Amino acid sequence: MEPYACPSCRNKMRFHILDQQPVSVKLHPQTGELVGYIDESDMMAQPYRGEHRLVQCALCGLNGGEPLFVKAAQRM
Ligand SMILES: [Zn+2]
Repeated sequence: MEPYACPSCRNKMRFHILDQQPVSVKLHPQTGELVGYIDESDMMAQPYRGEHRLVQCALCGLNGGEPLFVKAAQRM
């Protein structure tokens, strides 16, 4: 772990951490039913590019990706 700081309220101690476990699915267009999973050979789909760890400040509620909080800590 690296130090975090909230860029909004400067909290450095209390955070909610959400580790993302992306599930790449194929859904039936009309029913929404799960019909399969995207595999690496699927040329139509791009891989997940979102944040792998989201952080919420437990004092002011600011949400963001982990880099936002790590960079704020480096600046303080
Ligand atoms: Zn905050």
